[in-house]
Amino acid sequence: MTRKIDFSKYSSIKIGPIIDVRLIEKREAKREDEFIIGGANNILISNTPKPLAMLSKKFDYIAVEDNELTVGGATKSGRIFSFVKKHDIKNFEYLGKLPGTLGGLVAMNAGMKDDEIFNKLIKVKTSKGYLNKDEIEHGYRFSKIDDIIYEAVFEIEKGFDSEKLALFTKMRSNQPKDPSPGSAFKNPPNDYAGRLIEAVGMKGYRIGDAAFSQIHANFLVNLGNATFEDTIELLNKAKEKVFENFGITLELEVKIV
Ligand SMILES: Cc1cc2nc3c(=O)[nH]c(=O)nc-3n(C[C@H](O)[C@H](O)[C@H](O)COP(=O)(O)OP(=O)(O)OC[C@H]3O[C@@H](n4cnc5c(N)ncnc54)[C@H](O)[C@@H]3O)c2cc1C
Repeated sequence: MTRKIDFSKYSSIKIGPIIDVRLIEKREAKREDEFIIGGANNILISNTPKPLAMLSKKFDYIAVEDNELTVGGATKSGRIFSFVKKHDIKNFEYLGKLPGTLGGLVAMNAGMKDDEIFNKLIKVKTSKGYLNKDEIEHGYRFSKIDDIIYEAVFEIEKGFDSEKLALFTKMRSNQPKDPSPGSAFKNPPNDYAGRLIEAVGMKGYRIGDAAFSQIHANFLVNLGNATFEDTIELLNKAKEKVFENFGITLELEVKIV
């Protein structure tokens, strides 16, 4: 089974072609040549990407079992957020403000401030069975799982924190509203990608309709009809300038397919 996806509508940056994406209906090994997508909130798809695959709705579920939270790989962050709020569970408040699916959240170790998805993670189900958290190399916005993420299981602590949610809501209120995959680059150790981009004069800088936001320099935005090529040129230019001026190599947070 495949699903025809128009990435100029589906992806958060609203760039990309119309392609048939293979639907994964049951647990199987990752195919070497394929790229797995979730909600496409952190990816930039070229006109000639690798073959794409995604989890079907069969992996959209969430439940409390044996006092642990079990979530399917295709479950959206919004659904996880509603569930934890309703069941008075804490440590997942940021999911109310962060778009994605469970698979993408775990693959990226996504989060806000000090909260990230690995914090309460117990184990991840892949094609080969469960991997415990301590078997998975992970860090700031990355995890090394060279497999499909079918499910994850988390510790439960009671006490949904409305104040934290208010803090995350406030953080979002002054972020750009244009189509975007969020941060272009990861923050380098002890510094901020946004500060460096601003320091080389590229805050608000634009190539075609691809730009770094006027509001947050590291926020990649599509101001209308940005193309894949414009966006890549913009990212490369910022990388070059930051390296020339500071000797720091910025690492992409957004994934290029
Ligand atoms: C407006 C905006 C703000 C954002 N702010 C933040 C933020 O504050 N903090 C933050 O961390 N992120 C942020 N992001 C990025 C994004 O929300 C996260 O990276 C999210 O985890 C992406 O999930 P996704 O399902 O859309 O993954 P995709 O974008 O589809 O994929 C991302 C990566 O995950 C992999 N992947 C997806 N599903 C699976 C699976 N089932 N198995 C294996 N690998 C998989 C893909 O191969 C790819 O490498 C923001 C994005 C937007 C649009």
